[in-house]
Amino acid sequence: MFARAPKKSDNTKYYEVLGVPKNASQEDLKKAYRKAAIKNHPDKGGDPEKFKELAQAYEVLSDPEKRDIYDTYGEDALKEGMGGGGGDPFDLFQSFFGGSPFGGMKAGGSSRGRRQRRGEDVIHPLKVSLEDLYNGTSKKLSLSRNVICSKCKGKGSKSGASMKCAGCQGSGVKVTIRQVGPSMIQQVQQHCNECRGSGEIINEKDRCPQCKGEKVVQDKKVLEVVVEKGMQNGQKITFAGEADEAPDMVTGDIVFVLQVKEHPRFKRKGDDLFVEHTLSLTEALCGFQFVLTHLDNRQLLIKSQPGEVIKPEQFKAIDDEGMPMYQRPFMKGKLYIHFNIDFPDSLTPEQCKTIESVLPPRPSVGLTDMELDECEETTLHDVNMEEEMRRKQSQAQEAYEEDEEHMGGPQRVQCAQQ
Ligand SMILES: [Zn+2]
Ligand SMILES: [Zn+2]
Repeated sequence: MFARAPKKSDNTKYYEVLGVPKNASQEDLKKAYRKAAIKNHPDKGGDPEKFKELAQAYEVLSDPEKRDIYDTYGEDALKEGMGGGGGDPFDLFQSFFGGSPFGGMKAGGSSRGRRQRRGEDVIHPLKVSLEDLYNGTSKKLSLSRNVICSKCKGKGSKSGASMKCAGCQGSGVKVTIRQVGPSMIQQVQQHCNECRGSGEIINEKDRCPQCKGEKVVQDKKVLEVVVEKGMQNGQKITFAGEADEAPDMVTGDIVFVLQVKEHPRFKRKGDDLFVEHTLSLTEALCGFQFVLTHLDNRQLLIKSQPGEVIKPEQFKAIDDEGMPMYQRPFMKGKLYIHFNIDFPDSLTPEQCKTIESVLPPRPSVGLTDMELDECEETTLHDVNMEEEMRRKQSQAQEAYEEDEEHMGGPQRVQCAQQ
Protein backbone atom coordinates (compact mmCIF):
# COMPACT_ATOMS: atom_id res chain seq x y z
CA MET A 1 0.00 0.00 0.00
CA PHE A 2 2.84 2.41 0.70
CA ALA A 3 3.75 2.35 -3.01
CA ARG A 4 0.51 4.13 -3.76
CA ALA A 5 1.73 7.31 -2.15
CA PRO A 6 4.49 8.54 -4.43
CA LYS A 7 6.04 11.95 -4.14
CA LYS A 8 4.50 14.31 -6.64
CA SER A 9 7.77 15.04 -8.45
CA ASP A 10 8.28 11.36 -9.16
CA ASN A 11 5.81 11.21 -11.99
CA THR A 12 6.18 14.58 -13.68
CA LYS A 13 9.84 14.54 -14.64
CA TYR A 14 9.31 12.80 -18.00
CA TYR A 15 6.65 15.33 -18.94
CA GLU A 16 8.98 18.16 -18.01
CA VAL A 17 11.82 16.63 -20.02
CA LEU A 18 9.63 16.58 -23.11
CA GLY A 19 8.02 19.90 -22.24
CA VAL A 20 4.43 18.68 -22.47
CA PRO A 21 1.48 18.83 -20.03
CA LYS A 22 0.47 15.71 -18.13
CA ASN A 23 -2.59 15.22 -20.27
CA ALA A 24 -0.64 15.45 -23.53
CA SER A 25 -1.95 13.26 -26.35
CA GLN A 26 0.22 10.67 -28.10
CA GLU A 27 0.41 13.03 -31.04
CA ASP A 28 1.65 15.87 -28.81
CA LEU A 29 4.26 13.58 -27.28
CA LYS A 30 5.45 12.43 -30.65
CA LYS A 31 5.81 15.99 -31.90
CA ALA A 32 7.58 17.16 -28.79
CA TYR A 33 9.99 14.24 -28.83
CA ARG A 34 10.74 14.60 -32.49
CA LYS A 35 11.59 18.26 -32.12
CA ALA A 36 13.69 17.80 -29.00
CA ALA A 37 15.49 14.69 -30.26
CA ILE A 38 16.62 16.35 -33.45
CA LYS A 39 17.73 19.43 -31.52
CA ASN A 40 19.67 17.43 -28.95
CA HIS A 41 21.06 14.70 -31.17
CA PRO A 42 24.76 14.15 -30.35
CA ASP A 43 25.57 14.11 -34.07
CA LYS A 44 24.42 17.71 -34.15
CA GLY A 45 26.43 18.68 -31.13
CA GLY A 46 23.70 17.99 -28.57
CA ASP A 47 24.32 16.69 -25.06
CA PRO A 48 24.30 12.86 -25.09
CA GLU A 49 22.90 12.75 -21.54
CA LYS A 50 20.02 15.01 -22.45
CA PHE A 51 19.38 12.95 -25.58
CA LYS A 52 19.29 9.78 -23.51
CA GLU A 53 16.90 11.36 -21.05
CA LEU A 54 14.57 12.43 -23.85
CA ALA A 55 14.60 8.96 -25.37
CA GLN A 56 13.84 7.39 -22.03
CA ALA A 57 11.00 9.79 -21.32
CA TYR A 58 9.48 9.22 -24.72
CA GLU A 59 9.89 5.47 -24.51
CA VAL A 60 7.86 5.37 -21.34
CA LEU A 61 5.18 7.94 -22.18
CA SER A 62 4.57 6.62 -25.70
CA ASP A 63 3.65 3.23 -24.30
CA PRO A 64 0.18 3.50 -22.69
CA GLU A 65 0.94 0.65 -20.31
CA LYS A 66 4.22 2.14 -19.11
CA ARG A 67 2.72 5.60 -19.00
CA ASP A 68 0.01 4.29 -16.74
CA ILE A 69 2.55 2.75 -14.38
CA TYR A 70 4.62 5.92 -14.42
CA ASP A 71 1.65 8.17 -13.73
CA THR A 72 0.58 6.00 -10.82
CA TYR A 73 3.81 4.83 -9.26
CA GLY A 74 6.58 6.98 -10.68
CA GLU A 75 9.91 6.27 -12.27
CA ASP A 76 11.20 3.73 -9.76
CA ALA A 77 8.38 1.32 -10.41
CA LEU A 78 9.35 1.27 -14.06
CA LYS A 79 13.01 0.67 -13.47
CA GLU A 80 12.25 -2.66 -11.84
CA GLY A 81 10.03 -3.62 -14.71
CA MET A 82 12.50 -2.58 -17.38
CA GLY A 83 15.25 -4.69 -15.92
CA GLY A 84 17.61 -1.74 -15.93
CA GLY A 85 17.86 -1.88 -19.71
CA GLY A 86 15.74 1.03 -20.63
CA GLY A 87 16.60 0.58 -24.30
CA ASP A 88 19.24 2.16 -26.38
CA PRO A 89 18.32 5.77 -27.14
CA PHE A 90 19.82 5.41 -30.61
CA ASP A 91 17.67 2.40 -31.37
CA LEU A 92 14.62 4.29 -30.28
CA PHE A 93 15.61 7.24 -32.40
CA GLN A 94 16.07 4.87 -35.30
CA SER A 95 12.68 3.24 -34.89
CA PHE A 96 10.98 6.56 -34.34
CA PHE A 97 12.28 8.26 -37.41
CA GLY A 98 12.78 5.15 -39.46
CA GLY A 99 16.33 6.25 -39.96
CA SER A 100 18.69 9.03 -39.34
CA PRO A 101 18.20 12.48 -40.78
CA PHE A 102 21.93 13.07 -40.48
CA GLY A 103 23.15 10.07 -42.42
CA GLY A 104 25.92 7.74 -41.45
CA MET A 105 24.28 6.94 -38.14
CA LYS A 106 23.64 3.34 -38.96
CA ALA A 107 26.94 2.09 -37.65
CA GLY A 108 26.22 3.53 -34.24
CA GLY A 109 22.59 2.57 -34.20
CA SER A 110 21.08 -0.61 -35.45
CA SER A 111 24.21 -2.74 -35.50
CA ARG A 112 24.69 -2.32 -31.77
CA GLY A 113 24.66 -5.99 -30.89
CA ARG A 114 20.96 -6.56 -30.63
CA ARG A 115 20.02 -9.99 -31.83
CA GLN A 116 16.99 -8.98 -33.83
CA ARG A 117 16.00 -10.06 -37.29
CA ARG A 118 16.89 -7.52 -39.90
CA GLY A 119 14.54 -6.67 -42.74
CA GLU A 120 15.71 -6.75 -46.28
CA ASP A 121 17.34 -3.76 -47.91
CA VAL A 122 15.52 -2.33 -50.88
CA ILE A 123 17.78 -1.49 -53.80
CA HIS A 124 16.73 1.03 -56.43
CA PRO A 125 18.79 2.01 -59.46
CA LEU A 126 18.89 5.77 -59.92
CA LYS A 127 19.63 7.10 -63.39
CA VAL A 128 21.74 10.23 -63.44
CA SER A 129 23.49 12.21 -66.16
CA LEU A 130 27.12 13.22 -66.19
CA GLU A 131 25.87 16.79 -65.77
CA ASP A 132 24.17 15.68 -62.51
CA LEU A 133 27.46 14.32 -61.19
CA TYR A 134 29.39 17.38 -62.30
CA ASN A 135 27.01 19.94 -60.83
CA GLY A 136 25.40 17.92 -58.05
CA THR A 137 21.62 17.63 -57.83
CA SER A 138 18.84 16.28 -55.70
CA LYS A 139 15.97 14.12 -56.80
CA LYS A 140 12.69 13.68 -54.99
CA LEU A 141 11.34 10.17 -55.19
CA SER A 142 8.04 8.95 -53.88
CA LEU A 143 8.10 5.42 -52.51
CA SER A 144 5.47 3.36 -50.83
CA ARG A 145 6.47 1.10 -48.01
CA ASN A 146 5.03 -0.85 -45.10
CA VAL A 147 5.04 0.88 -41.74
CA ILE A 148 4.01 -0.51 -38.39
CA CYS A 149 0.33 0.20 -37.88
CA SER A 150 0.07 3.19 -35.54
CA LYS A 151 -3.31 2.17 -34.17
CA CYS A 152 -2.27 -1.24 -32.80
CA LYS A 153 1.49 -0.54 -32.66
CA GLY A 154 2.11 -3.61 -34.78
CA LYS A 155 0.18 -6.00 -32.60
CA GLY A 156 -2.57 -6.50 -35.16
CA SER A 157 -5.31 -6.68 -32.54
CA LYS A 158 -7.34 -4.21 -30.52
CA SER A 159 -6.60 -5.94 -27.23
CA GLY A 160 -2.98 -6.69 -28.00
CA ALA A 161 -3.72 -10.36 -27.56
CA SER A 162 -3.05 -13.11 -30.02
CA MET A 163 -3.16 -16.86 -29.93
CA LYS A 164 -0.51 -19.28 -30.91
CA CYS A 165 -1.39 -20.66 -34.32
CA ALA A 166 -2.72 -24.17 -33.94
CA GLY A 167 -1.64 -25.16 -37.43
CA CYS A 168 2.07 -24.74 -36.72
CA GLN A 169 2.21 -24.50 -32.92
CA GLY A 170 3.48 -20.97 -33.29
CA SER A 171 6.58 -21.82 -35.29
CA GLY A 172 5.28 -20.29 -38.52
CA VAL A 173 6.28 -23.33 -40.55
CA LYS A 174 4.60 -26.61 -41.19
CA VAL A 175 6.56 -29.78 -41.75
CA THR A 176 4.94 -32.29 -44.01
CA ILE A 177 6.26 -35.71 -44.91
CA ARG A 178 6.01 -36.91 -48.46
CA GLN A 179 6.58 -40.32 -49.92
CA VAL A 180 8.86 -39.76 -52.92
CA GLY A 181 9.80 -43.36 -53.72
CA PRO A 182 9.05 -46.87 -52.58
CA SER A 183 11.38 -46.53 -49.60
CA MET A 184 12.06 -42.83 -49.54
CA ILE A 185 10.34 -40.07 -47.67
CA GLN A 186 11.04 -36.38 -47.84
CA GLN A 187 10.49 -33.74 -45.19
CA VAL A 188 9.18 -30.52 -46.61
CA GLN A 189 9.10 -27.28 -44.64
CA GLN A 190 6.49 -24.81 -45.73
CA HIS A 191 5.24 -21.46 -44.55
CA CYS A 192 2.19 -22.11 -42.42
CA ASN A 193 -0.79 -20.95 -44.49
CA GLU A 194 -3.10 -20.53 -41.54
CA CYS A 195 -1.03 -17.80 -39.92
CA ARG A 196 0.99 -16.96 -43.04
CA GLY A 197 4.24 -17.67 -41.28
CA SER A 198 3.69 -15.35 -38.33
CA GLY A 199 3.02 -18.15 -35.85
CA GLU A 200 0.00 -16.43 -34.33
CA ILE A 201 -3.65 -16.02 -34.99
CA ILE A 202 -5.68 -12.96 -34.15
CA ASN A 203 -9.31 -13.41 -33.37
CA GLU A 204 -11.37 -11.94 -36.19
CA LYS A 205 -13.42 -9.71 -33.87
CA ASP A 206 -10.28 -8.44 -32.18
CA ARG A 207 -8.50 -7.45 -35.38
CA CYS A 208 -7.19 -3.90 -35.57
CA PRO A 209 -9.57 -1.94 -37.81
CA GLN A 210 -6.75 0.12 -39.32
CA CYS A 211 -4.47 -2.68 -40.51
CA LYS A 212 -7.05 -5.51 -40.51
CA GLY A 213 -4.69 -7.56 -38.37
CA GLU A 214 -1.81 -7.20 -40.82
CA LYS A 215 0.23 -5.21 -38.25
CA VAL A 216 1.54 -2.95 -41.00
CA VAL A 217 -0.05 -0.44 -43.32
CA GLN A 218 1.09 1.06 -46.61
CA ASP A 219 2.62 4.48 -46.39
CA LYS A 220 3.75 6.86 -49.11
CA LYS A 221 6.96 8.64 -48.46
CA VAL A 222 8.95 11.16 -50.45
CA LEU A 223 12.70 10.73 -50.19
CA GLU A 224 15.07 13.42 -51.31
CA VAL A 225 18.15 11.80 -52.78
CA VAL A 226 21.09 14.17 -52.77
CA VAL A 227 23.51 13.41 -55.58
CA GLU A 228 26.77 15.04 -54.59
CA LYS A 229 29.33 16.48 -56.95
CA GLY A 230 31.86 13.91 -58.08
CA MET A 231 29.89 10.80 -57.18
CA GLN A 232 30.66 7.73 -59.24
CA ASN A 233 28.70 5.30 -61.34
CA GLY A 234 27.59 2.46 -59.03
CA GLN A 235 27.94 4.57 -55.88
CA LYS A 236 25.32 3.87 -53.23
CA ILE A 237 23.20 6.42 -51.41
CA THR A 238 21.70 4.80 -48.33
CA PHE A 239 18.64 5.77 -46.35
CA ALA A 240 19.16 3.73 -43.20
CA GLY A 241 16.05 2.05 -41.85
CA GLU A 242 13.68 3.36 -44.52
CA ALA A 243 12.68 0.03 -46.05
CA ASP A 244 9.57 -1.95 -45.10
CA GLU A 245 8.84 -2.07 -41.39
CA ALA A 246 7.67 -5.24 -39.72
CA PRO A 247 7.06 -6.10 -36.05
CA ASP A 248 10.10 -7.37 -34.11
CA MET A 249 12.43 -6.57 -36.93
CA VAL A 250 15.15 -4.05 -37.53
CA THR A 251 14.06 -2.15 -40.60
CA GLY A 252 16.33 -2.55 -43.62
CA ASP A 253 17.75 0.28 -45.68
CA ILE A 254 16.65 1.84 -48.91
CA VAL A 255 19.70 1.98 -51.13
CA PHE A 256 19.92 3.96 -54.35
CA VAL A 257 22.62 2.85 -56.77
CA LEU A 258 23.72 5.51 -59.24
CA GLN A 259 23.59 4.57 -62.90
CA VAL A 260 25.25 7.13 -65.09
CA LYS A 261 23.81 7.57 -68.56
CA GLU A 262 26.35 7.72 -71.33
CA HIS A 263 27.20 11.25 -72.40
CA PRO A 264 27.27 12.11 -76.10
CA ARG A 265 30.46 14.17 -75.85
CA PHE A 266 32.27 13.58 -72.57
CA LYS A 267 33.70 10.32 -71.24
CA ARG A 268 34.75 10.04 -67.63
CA LYS A 269 37.65 8.09 -66.18
CA GLY A 270 37.97 8.60 -62.44
CA ASP A 271 38.19 12.34 -61.92
CA ASP A 272 39.24 13.04 -65.50
CA LEU A 273 37.10 13.87 -68.48
CA PHE A 274 37.84 12.99 -72.08
CA VAL A 275 36.49 14.68 -75.15
CA GLU A 276 37.13 13.93 -78.83
CA HIS A 277 37.81 16.73 -81.27
CA THR A 278 38.41 16.56 -84.99
CA LEU A 279 40.64 19.14 -86.68
CA SER A 280 41.01 19.79 -90.37
CA LEU A 281 44.52 19.29 -91.70
CA THR A 282 44.85 23.04 -92.06
CA GLU A 283 43.91 23.55 -88.39
CA ALA A 284 46.30 20.81 -87.31
CA LEU A 285 49.18 22.43 -89.17
CA CYS A 286 48.38 26.12 -88.95
CA GLY A 287 46.51 26.51 -85.67
CA PHE A 288 42.94 26.32 -84.45
CA GLN A 289 40.49 27.59 -81.92
CA PHE A 290 37.08 26.28 -80.94
CA VAL A 291 34.49 26.62 -78.19
CA LEU A 292 33.66 23.67 -75.96
CA THR A 293 30.50 23.81 -73.87
CA HIS A 294 31.27 22.27 -70.49
CA LEU A 295 28.92 20.18 -68.32
CA ASP A 296 27.85 23.32 -66.44
CA ASN A 297 27.26 25.16 -69.73
CA ARG A 298 30.37 27.30 -69.39
CA GLN A 299 31.94 28.05 -72.77
CA LEU A 300 35.61 27.14 -72.87
CA LEU A 301 37.75 28.69 -75.58
CA ILE A 302 40.35 26.15 -76.63
CA LYS A 303 43.17 27.18 -78.93
CA SER A 304 46.61 26.12 -80.11
CA GLN A 305 49.89 27.91 -79.43
CA PRO A 306 51.28 29.92 -82.36
CA GLY A 307 53.30 27.64 -84.63
CA GLU A 308 52.14 24.47 -82.88
CA VAL A 309 51.32 21.40 -84.98
CA ILE A 310 48.85 18.78 -83.71
CA LYS A 311 49.49 15.19 -84.78
CA PRO A 312 46.86 12.48 -85.31
CA GLU A 313 45.76 10.73 -82.06
CA GLN A 314 47.49 13.38 -79.95
CA PHE A 315 46.17 14.20 -76.48
CA LYS A 316 46.25 17.57 -74.77
CA ALA A 317 44.97 18.35 -71.29
CA ILE A 318 43.46 21.30 -69.44
CA ASP A 319 44.04 21.29 -65.70
CA ASP A 320 41.10 21.64 -63.29
CA GLU A 321 38.44 21.22 -65.94
CA GLY A 322 37.78 17.53 -65.21
CA MET A 323 35.23 16.16 -62.75
CA PRO A 324 34.96 17.62 -59.26
CA MET A 325 36.33 15.21 -56.68
CA TYR A 326 33.79 13.56 -54.39
CA GLN A 327 33.55 15.44 -51.09
CA ARG A 328 36.31 17.80 -52.24
CA PRO A 329 34.38 19.46 -55.05
CA PHE A 330 36.71 22.43 -55.24
CA MET A 331 39.39 20.04 -56.52
CA LYS A 332 38.96 18.90 -60.08
CA GLY A 333 40.59 16.41 -62.42
CA LYS A 334 41.88 17.12 -65.90
CA LEU A 335 40.04 17.57 -69.15
CA TYR A 336 41.78 15.61 -71.90
CA ILE A 337 41.20 16.41 -75.52
CA HIS A 338 41.88 13.66 -78.01
CA PHE A 339 42.54 15.04 -81.46
CA ASN A 340 41.54 13.38 -84.72
CA ILE A 341 42.73 14.95 -87.93
CA ASP A 342 40.64 14.99 -91.02
CA PHE A 343 43.08 14.58 -93.92
CA PRO A 344 41.97 15.46 -97.45
CA ASP A 345 41.20 12.38 -99.56
CA SER A 346 43.29 13.54 -102.52
CA LEU A 347 45.22 16.55 -103.85
CA THR A 348 45.70 17.90 -107.35
CA PRO A 349 49.26 18.07 -108.78
CA GLU A 350 49.12 21.86 -108.42
CA GLN A 351 48.19 21.62 -104.77
CA CYS A 352 51.03 19.16 -104.24
CA LYS A 353 53.49 21.54 -105.80
CA THR A 354 52.35 24.37 -103.58
CA ILE A 355 52.52 22.30 -100.44
CA GLU A 356 55.90 20.82 -101.32
CA SER A 357 57.29 24.27 -101.77
CA VAL A 358 56.77 25.00 -98.07
CA LEU A 359 57.20 21.56 -96.47
CA PRO A 360 60.60 20.02 -95.70
CA PRO A 361 62.10 18.24 -98.77
CA ARG A 362 61.50 14.53 -99.44
CA PRO A 363 64.16 12.05 -98.42
CA SER A 364 66.20 11.25 -101.55
CA VAL A 365 65.65 7.72 -102.88
CA GLY A 366 69.30 7.41 -103.89
CA LEU A 367 68.75 4.96 -106.75
CA THR A 368 70.02 5.33 -110.27
CA ASP A 369 67.67 4.83 -113.24
CA MET A 370 69.41 1.58 -113.98
CA GLU A 371 68.91 0.29 -110.45
CA LEU A 372 65.24 1.29 -110.64
CA ASP A 373 64.87 -0.66 -113.88
CA GLU A 374 65.83 -3.80 -112.01
CA CYS A 375 63.06 -3.40 -109.44
CA GLU A 376 59.66 -5.02 -109.82
CA GLU A 377 56.65 -2.71 -110.05
CA THR A 378 53.91 -3.15 -107.42
CA THR A 379 50.40 -1.76 -106.94
CA LEU A 380 49.07 -0.46 -103.66
CA HIS A 381 45.34 -0.92 -103.17
CA ASP A 382 42.90 0.08 -100.47
CA VAL A 383 42.13 -2.31 -97.67
CA ASN A 384 39.67 -2.34 -94.86
CA MET A 385 42.04 -3.61 -92.19
CA GLU A 386 39.34 -4.53 -89.71
CA GLU A 387 37.50 -6.70 -92.18
CA GLU A 388 40.75 -8.22 -93.38
CA MET A 389 41.71 -9.29 -89.87
CA ARG A 390 38.29 -10.72 -89.20
CA ARG A 391 38.43 -12.81 -92.39
CA LYS A 392 41.88 -14.12 -91.53
CA GLN A 393 40.72 -15.09 -88.08
CA SER A 394 37.71 -17.03 -89.28
CA GLN A 395 39.87 -18.82 -91.88
CA ALA A 396 42.28 -19.85 -89.16
CA GLN A 397 39.42 -21.04 -87.02
CA GLU A 398 38.01 -23.17 -89.84
CA ALA A 399 41.37 -24.74 -90.56
CA TYR A 400 41.81 -25.48 -86.91
CA GLU A 401 38.44 -27.15 -86.64
CA GLU A 402 39.14 -29.20 -89.78
CA ASP A 403 42.41 -30.45 -88.35
CA GLU A 404 40.77 -31.17 -85.05
CA GLU A 405 38.56 -33.72 -86.78
CA HIS A 406 41.55 -35.74 -88.02
CA MET A 407 43.79 -35.69 -85.00
CA GLY A 408 44.16 -34.04 -81.65
CA GLY A 409 47.11 -32.06 -80.43
CA PRO A 410 48.21 -28.58 -79.51
CA GLN A 411 50.43 -27.83 -82.55
CA ARG A 412 47.45 -27.48 -84.93
CA VAL A 413 47.17 -23.74 -84.48
CA GLN A 414 50.49 -23.27 -86.19
CA CYS A 415 49.44 -25.40 -89.19
CA ALA A 416 46.31 -23.37 -89.64
CA GLN A 417 48.22 -20.14 -89.89
CA GLN A 418 50.32 -21.29 -92.84
ZN1 LIG B 1 -3.27 -2.12 -36.64
ZN1 LIG C 1 0.61 -21.15 -38.28
